[in-house]
Amino acid sequence: MKIVMLGAPGAGKGTQADRIAEKFGIPHISTGDIFRANLREGTELGKKAKVYMDRGELVPDDLTCDLLIDRVSKEDCAEGYILDGFPRTIAQAEVLDRALKALNTAVDFAIDVEVPDEDIVTRMSGRRACPKCGATYHVKYMPSKIEDKCDKCGSDLILRDDDKPETVLKRLRVYHDQTQPLIDYYQKKGILHTVDGTKTPEAVFGSILAFLGKESV
Ligand code: AMP
Repeated sequence: MKIVMLGAPGAGKGTQADRIAEKFGIPHISTGDIFRANLREGTELGKKAKVYMDRGELVPDDLTCDLLIDRVSKEDCAEGYILDGFPRTIAQAEVLDRALKALNTAVDFAIDVEVPDEDIVTRMSGRRACPKCGATYHVKYMPSKIEDKCDKCGSDLILRDDDKPETVLKRLRVYHDQTQPLIDYYQKKGILHTVDGTKTPEAVFGSILAFLGKESV
């Protein structure tokens, strides 16, 4: 089962992708997480990606597509995977489709988590991240056990540069210009399911499961 998660930054795609991955025993692949891991490790890719990420822009396709295609070719992806944050442009979706077609397969489902822009800005300002291990929290919806300390490694939590309000507004503009057209793209393929991301994470997950269950029998 190959699933693509769509939705604005901060819509809750990552949380839902984690749950789906656990439920179906498939890897959750987030290009944002891969870039951030490279950044923490100080790799060349991480340094290049940071310039774009800090500005709230998309990392260019030549740095992103090969990395993703490489990742989904790994053995743990044989039974499927869930993509979170890729594709983000029609060009990326076409690269993925071409790579899958060469293997006689295709994306099975696209899930769009819809949240109004106003809610996104409020949500993102409450996000906190661990600069050391990458774990993420939310001051209201998913607080760490000790305020501003990472549950996993004890480091001080931070508000990531790309979660600061001015960058969030930029990311939303980029989302509407470059990523939203993918909703139409997958709708035309007949594999799109839209969920109301303002509901509780449990309700959103329930709606996704109902759809996946119905469609995969
Ligand atoms: P995310 O955690 O998915 O919101 O991604 C954080 C940042 O990583 C984005 O704002 C982009 O700068 C970059 N990024 C992640 N995935 C992609 C992608 N598929 N294409 C281009 N840039 C990406």
